[in-house]
Amino acid sequence: MTSPPPELGRIRDALLGARSVLLTSHERPDGDSLGSQLALGAALRQLGKQVRIIDYDPAPDLYAFLPDLGTIEIADNVTDRFDTVVVLECSSLDRTGLRGLDERPIINIDHHPGNVMYGTLNWHDESACACAELVSELIDTLGVPLTPAMATQLYVAILTDTGSFRHANITPRTFTICQKIATTGINPTDVASQVYNNGSLGRLRLTGMLLERMQLEHGHRVAVLRLNDAMLAEAGCTPDDIEGIVNIPLAARDVQAVVFFKDTGAAMRVSLRSKGSVDVRQVAVSFGGGGHRNAAGLTIEHPSSETDSLVLSRVAAAITDSEP
Ligand code: AMP
Ligand code: MN
Repeated sequence: MTSPPPELGRIRDALLGARSVLLTSHERPDGDSLGSQLALGAALRQLGKQVRIIDYDPAPDLYAFLPDLGTIEIADNVTDRFDTVVVLECSSLDRTGLRGLDERPIINIDHHPGNVMYGTLNWHDESACACAELVSELIDTLGVPLTPAMATQLYVAILTDTGSFRHANITPRTFTICQKIATTGINPTDVASQVYNNGSLGRLRLTGMLLERMQLEHGHRVAVLRLNDAMLAEAGCTPDDIEGIVNIPLAARDVQAVVFFKDTGAAMRVSLRSKGSVDVRQVAVSFGGGGHRNAAGLTIEHPSSETDSLVLSRVAAAITDSEP
């Protein structure tokens, strides 16, 4: 283990000195943002702090089993006073979707590349496989023992953000933390089953429809998936059911990147995934989005066939750039 970053001590002191703490994370929360917020919230409550967790969007149904998920409040504006605000998993403050956070003392804890250091205190560590890895170290530094509920929350965050221990950024630290998590007595198999074996039949139907219509571009190196409202209706799905489907085409040896166009509202959401050194984050950033090298996303406000082609050609260029 490397020595703890100096920022960690300052963050611990700020939290120990606070009476009321607000926790938040990014819009459209994922396993890491939910697990990180809930586990840190539980630790701070154990220390007697008044804790509220406020997110812009509700959690996908898939995460309904997470302990204390119901304590997360949904709002678009924060008006109440808090001694400090902890923003988890956000490379910039606007990723929260919340208004009313400017001018507040903010603790920024994140693992996304390109974090703009918007906090009063900033702990940014791209080497973490999940924000939950940092949260777990913070909980340790606060001297709070892990309960089984906190262990479940942290494990879901790490399991989902690493794509079940397959993505980049898995280090010995990841497994040290998972070892601590496992010693609380939780059953990692049960947790994985809740996350991966608990989807709707509609999701299975939708997966079939998407793969059936998948296009292969750039010499089979780019897989393109396209979703619209009519397909969701035909499969009997909600947008929640889409989560994770984007990763499936990576199972084919030839496929180096996946582009998933989701035309389910006014704007077009695009999810990008890639293998190895293919950097789809750069593509997302070039359209005002962001994410990680192998998992990124963007939104196109005025979609057209030209913007679709532009995304595809930039992904193809990212693949070409990665080739020796
Ligand atoms: P998604 O494809 O929506 O699951 O997103 C993949 C990754 O990219 C996640 O780490 C997201 O937090 C990140 N991401 C998605 N959309 C954006 C965006 N508009 N700006 C910054 N990061 C994003
Ligand atoms: Mn994360």
